[in-house]
Amino acid sequence: MTTLAELDRRVVDCRACPRLVAWREEVARTKRASFRDQDYWGRPVPGFGPADAAVGVVGLAPAAHGANRTGRMFTGDRSGDVLYAALHAVGLASRPTATHTGDGLELFGVRITAPVKCAPPANKPTPAERDNCRPWLERELALLRPTLRSVVVLGAFGWQALLPVLGAAWAVPVPRPRFGHGVAHELAAVDGGPPLTVFGCYHVSQQNTFTGRLTPAMVEDVLRAAGRTAGIL
Ligand code: SF4
Repeated sequence: MTTLAELDRRVVDCRACPRLVAWREEVARTKRASFRDQDYWGRPVPGFGPADAAVGVVGLAPAAHGANRTGRMFTGDRSGDVLYAALHAVGLASRPTATHTGDGLELFGVRITAPVKCAPPANKPTPAERDNCRPWLERELALLRPTLRSVVVLGAFGWQALLPVLGAAWAVPVPRPRFGHGVAHELAAVDGGPPLTVFGCYHVSQQNTFTGRLTPAMVEDVLRAAGRTAGIL
């Protein structure tokens, strides 16, 4: 796979994790009552955003009735409402809302992806499923390497999944830096290219946003810092 477009086309046919294939398709068949007249996507969800992105946003996995329904990362659920509103507020998205693939939303210099590309039961992929999906993330990051300068990681699962993958192009300290909201670590390149700064941000899930643990301003601050570090804000 030599382009992100090709990667995105191919990942949607992946069936490497039997439990996740069964779950994503079961959810797509049974649906949530409020979406019963819609066709669910029910497949792996590719990354979203331009192939020359300077900022990456890495979550956990698609939501059963969000991205697993709409086919686009963080689209059609409460987590996405928070994330896209923040991206728009800092000037990295064309609209504050994400409802479906034809809604006209564009990201400016940002690519959103996840270490597990199929919706897992209870939002909890197993370590084996994370490892199965790792080659997709590795290839995605390799293709983004020429332009990628910062990454915002949403939550500890994404942090633990991403850091080992970054070792292909950047020096990841041992022991690995710990996840925390607002932490930032600059990783020197091992391939002769520019460094990468990795930012931690609490996940934009309702668990965090409804309880006030994570506010819109906190998300905006991290995205703004990542955009500035990458030179696009
Ligand atoms: S989680 Fe990743 S590896 Fe597993 S089936 Fe989905 S796309 Fe394939």
